[in-house]
Amino acid sequence: MKYYDKLIFELSRPGRKGYELPEDKYGCDALKDMPADLLRKDTPELPEVSELDVVRHYTNLSSKNFGVDTGFYPLGSCTMKYNPKINEEVAAMPEFAGLHPLQPAESAQGALELYYNLQHALANIAGLAEFTLNPYAGAHGELTGLMVMRQYHLSRGDEKRRKVIVPDSAHGTNPASAMVAGLEVVEVKSKPNGSIDVEDLKPLLDDTVAGIMMTNPNTLGMFETEIMEIAKLVHEAGGLLYYDGANLNPMLGKVRPGDMGFDIMHINLHKTFSTPHGGGGPGSGPVGVAAHLVDLLPNPRVKKGEDGKFYIENGDKSLGSISSFLGNFGVMMKAYAYILSLGKENLKNVGPMATLNANYIKESLKDDYLLPIEGACKHEFVFDGLKDKSTGVTTLNVAKRLLDYGFHAPTIYFPLLFHESMMIEPTETESKETLDEFIEVMHKVAKEARENPEMVKNAPHTTLISHPDETTAAKKPILTYRQMKG
Ligand SMILES: *Cc1c(COP(=O)(O)O)cnc(C)c1O
Repeated sequence: MKYYDKLIFELSRPGRKGYELPEDKYGCDALKDMPADLLRKDTPELPEVSELDVVRHYTNLSSKNFGVDTGFYPLGSCTMKYNPKINEEVAAMPEFAGLHPLQPAESAQGALELYYNLQHALANIAGLAEFTLNPYAGAHGELTGLMVMRQYHLSRGDEKRRKVIVPDSAHGTNPASAMVAGLEVVEVKSKPNGSIDVEDLKPLLDDTVAGIMMTNPNTLGMFETEIMEIAKLVHEAGGLLYYDGANLNPMLGKVRPGDMGFDIMHINLHKTFSTPHGGGGPGSGPVGVAAHLVDLLPNPRVKKGEDGKFYIENGDKSLGSISSFLGNFGVMMKAYAYILSLGKENLKNVGPMATLNANYIKESLKDDYLLPIEGACKHEFVFDGLKDKSTGVTTLNVAKRLLDYGFHAPTIYFPLLFHESMMIEPTETESKETLDEFIEVMHKVAKEARENPEMVKNAPHTTLISHPDETTAAKKPILTYRQMKG
């Protein structure tokens, strides 16, 4: 272990300085006109460190971060795919990055054109009429889409439609967004194979239904084969279909949510369209709608005039504004660069490659890990922990042990349908060599679990922190120097 690998947070030494401001210019002299009550009485309690201490501290911290750029990241339900560097270069172009959101539209034609074109590209990919790129993330897109759904029913005087049907396998944001949008959540059961139980759905469809939220492929990575039947039933009952686009990756350019009968959807640009999102953002959750819902989309919108010029418009039937200005523009630039650099033909290869990679891992590991749902999956799949449960080695133990081998853990304990869920999504950007390495390590961990279960239960053995109290770490994180000092 190198000396800086130790967890030293306290680097401060009394009197050590990194930089000193000249007294005459910024010191006491300059402050003499400042009202006395605004002046601080005591020296601020800041770490006393040299410039080199600071540089090493932050540079070393940055190298402790795991990311797609440093290793394999099989996190399911998140599409942590590699983000080509050209996307970053494009997003950093000063002509775009330096724009001010209040600048007149005439002086920001390029940015508006990009917004407009991306909106159209997504509409084409989704099979829907129009998109807003304003929402900041998937969950924000869900909220926006559900507001469209509610507004649609209200605008028709159909006030009692408040029920949103959500499958029991759904991502937690789905019911949460419905609640925030002022709607009520009703759960529909999944069949043993993970798809929606149509027989359980039928009795829920009455004149209080606002709509249904689904994702296809579903949270288990399986394609909902009865989607056309479900769409027909929900539409006949007067409801709308909402598509959670977090699982759009395997469908890209092949199958369109609009063609499956969906009326509203969000896309996670930071998942399907390659923006890195490990640190919680920035994201972008564009929302697309079918033709009859376009007027309800949020303001402001970007339009193209007869003269070919782009302008910003506020529609009067709109549900209002849901973000400041037009959303996270940098993320849009990356998505646009990604779509254009792949092109229409290559975009169609994303899904099949992601699907092939997921099935390859699944089939290679199902002798050691419990596969609750047999058959071809799409871009991801779920194991229900180790096949051999007699050792007491859990999904959490396996996930922690993977860290010792330099892999990021898969998504664990989601979906909630199984007790030991381990959700794996390799994405299309990984080579066969990386997949083989991962498979080999997963087999090795299964063998270790049989031969030396205690060692696996105490993993990880090589990371700086091994078993933090995760609840306290999440609820009472120590984020500042002052907190650290107690
Ligand atoms: C990630 C995800 C969401 C939420 O998206 P955010 O961009 O994280 O807000 C919703 N549904 C599913 C299935 C997801 O995987």
